Amino acid sequence: MAVVVVMAFVWEAIAPDGDLRAPLIIGAAYGLLGFGMWRRHLCRQGSKRHRRTGTLADMVDWYTQADAGGDIIRISEPHVNELLSANFWWLRGNDRDMVIDAGLGVVALREAIPGLFERDPMVLLTHAHLDHVGGAAEFADRAAHPAEAELLATGVPASLYGAELYDKLGIDAAGEPVPELMIDVLPSPGYDPAAYRVEPMTVSRMLDDGDRIDLGGRELTVLHLPGHTPGSIALLEERTGTLYSGDIIYDGYLIDNLPNSDVAAYRRSMEFLADLDVSVVHPGHGHSFDRTRLRQLAEAYLRRTGSG
Ligand SMILES: [Zn+2]
Ligand SMILES: [Zn+2]
Repeated sequence: MAVVVVMAFVWEAIAPDGDLRAPLIIGAAYGLLGFGMWRRHLCRQGSKRHRRTGTLADMVDWYTQADAGGDIIRISEPHVNELLSANFWWLRGNDRDMVIDAGLGVVALREAIPGLFERDPMVLLTHAHLDHVGGAAEFADRAAHPAEAELLATGVPASLYGAELYDKLGIDAAGEPVPELMIDVLPSPGYDPAAYRVEPMTVSRMLDDGDRIDLGGRELTVLHLPGHTPGSIALLEERTGTLYSGDIIYDGYLIDNLPNSDVAAYRRSMEFLADLDVSVVHPGHGHSFDRTRLRQLAEAYLRRTGSG
């Protein structure tokens, strides 16, 4: 601002006619203000980049971490076939961290992202499919819906070979090509895909519709929304309108034809979601989206499965 004052005095000295002075001085002031804001913006961008570089040190190539804002980190597995490449979400509370789902379990999370375990997080499993629970045995405290607990205890069907996986899950490829291997690179040279399995695990905390989880300054409500599987759950942070939806809803073809799927239940879950007031949905697969898209996806499912 001091520069503007100096310029005003210079202008006063050199231009006796005052008609054009005021707009020019105001213009110069706005210009300088804009320049300052732009510089501050660049500085903020710079420090953001710097902070990200800090978390990069914890990463290996297998997992990708992205800052989703509001102390939420999205973790994904880019080397996994898109059918199984899931998101999981690391939430930081004042008292405790929570991880929603845990990926495929091909690479140990504790070695790849040690920071994830620093505050003894709880892992919450949206449902018992390999792409969401593979890494969950690494956590001491596991939460899920009781309808998924038995499958978790006996061992979730799993394979990295497409044909074997389809067979174990009861997926009908319906003439579509089946990927030979579900990962596009080996995580380490000696890795044996045939040795991959999801270890059986117990659930330490059973969750049902309406249960609340308080992480300190961050409270989440459990929504039981069956259909994809009987014990599929989503989590809603009401304060921010953030929904973590697992495989119940994402921006892609929704799977309701597995042996334990239930289309009638799925439709009821979608009717609920079509009317849910949220600001953002962080799903189990693909990108995040807003309430308008949530409603469109839910209504598209209801149309697709409607009897007409
Ligand atoms: Zn699933
Ligand atoms: Zn999934």
